[in-house]
Amino acid sequence: MAKTIQAIRGMNDCLPQVSAAWQRVEGTIRQVVASYGYQEIRTPIVESTELFKRSIGEVTDIVEKEMYTFEDRNGDSLTLRPEGTASCVRAGNEHGLFYNQQQRLWYMGPMFRHERPQKGRYRQFHQFGVEAYGLEGPDIDVEVILLSARLWKAFGMTQHVKLQINSLGSNEARQAYRDALVQFLTLHEEKLDEDSRRRMTTNPLRVLDSKNPQVQAVLEDAPSLLDCLDAESKEHFSKLCERLSQAGIQYEVNPRLVRGLDYYNRTVFEWVTDSLGAQGTVCAGGRYDGLVEQLGGKPSPAVGFALGLERLVLLLETLEEGALELAAAEVYICALGEEAESAALNLAESLRDELPHCKFMLHCGGGNMKKQLKRADKSGATVALILGSDEVANRTVTLKPLRIEQSQQTIAFDSLAATLASLIKAE
Ligand code: ATP
Ligand code: MG
Repeated sequence: MAKTIQAIRGMNDCLPQVSAAWQRVEGTIRQVVASYGYQEIRTPIVESTELFKRSIGEVTDIVEKEMYTFEDRNGDSLTLRPEGTASCVRAGNEHGLFYNQQQRLWYMGPMFRHERPQKGRYRQFHQFGVEAYGLEGPDIDVEVILLSARLWKAFGMTQHVKLQINSLGSNEARQAYRDALVQFLTLHEEKLDEDSRRRMTTNPLRVLDSKNPQVQAVLEDAPSLLDCLDAESKEHFSKLCERLSQAGIQYEVNPRLVRGLDYYNRTVFEWVTDSLGAQGTVCAGGRYDGLVEQLGGKPSPAVGFALGLERLVLLLETLEEGALELAAAEVYICALGEEAESAALNLAESLRDELPHCKFMLHCGGGNMKKQLKRADKSGATVALILGSDEVANRTVTLKPLRIEQSQQTIAFDSLAATLASLIKAE
């Protein structure tokens, strides 16, 4: 037998049993973003490597170790996108979406990072993100946080995620803080791991993001970013906190929250959960007022977040087993004999005309009644419709409930759609 070929490690197939759950999650997300007036943007999966180096930052995990970078046949360096913000800004600059304009955008799609695969961490994963341009905040910061909160509400998981916020201040404030932090870290250098020691010189704020518990222990006494904030950022942050409270959003200020990408300033936030082990951040974002200009555009303030869809789906499954399962069919149509088979085909088509939101599966491949009903059960349908030669002659079907103890009934073709509509709705 020929050797089978397998998928790339850390890149998952989305099989039929779970694709329905994904569709449902994606559908809810689309509804929520639309209710805030955000519009979709779709960008290519591959970009110039330069784009990510310049935006995410040279000394970040993503650019240092995680990018899928390759040379194409012309010798240009290309990279599979590791995140969506850089591409959004690139596209916005290229097509003049930002200058003197406001934009509220969203995207959804695969991202690629060469990480060690584990639960909640993959090499191809999917993000949904929103990005708002041309607005200084903090009103828009509150809006994007409320939008994310509405998603938790829609998925019934408000109790299982917590909001952490922080402010990174202006570039100047961050520079001042950086000096104070380096001074502190130098005093404790022997307790830092190799990564943190290296970052101390290249990108000291990233040390705060370390996942090493020993490093985190050292950081307990580190100076706080919030003490170094410039007056304007302080005002921005206190207004943000005030508005969040007014909107009934609970949050925790985490002065060590810095995010793993270099382009953030002022507001940063993360939604975290205890239910997913180490991969606890479901959604993360913040302001990035300098990025549009940094990538060659006229300056435009910006704020956004990205949400990891695998983590969201995992969390939903953890909270309620089977919560996302969706049957392939609601109505399974069985037919016995040539004549009935042909009538069933037409019946199914006219039912689909009348009830476009209902899922009909027509039995194919023949077989006796027992075999057909077994398939009907496997499809997850609520009811089976049975057609034999008697039914065809009388223009009726036999309706057999599959999920509840109830006797079957005979229904005329003409009243079938109405009966099914009320049955499926009552489900
Ligand atoms: P982490 O700290 O978990 O590595 P990150 O800071 O690298 O996350 P972001 O770049 O902010 O993550 O991406 C936003 C969200 O995308 C994360 O909060 C997470 O839900 C999801 N995400 C990031 N990397 C992965 C991955 N490799 N596999 C699955 N989801 C991911
Ligand atoms: Mg990461």
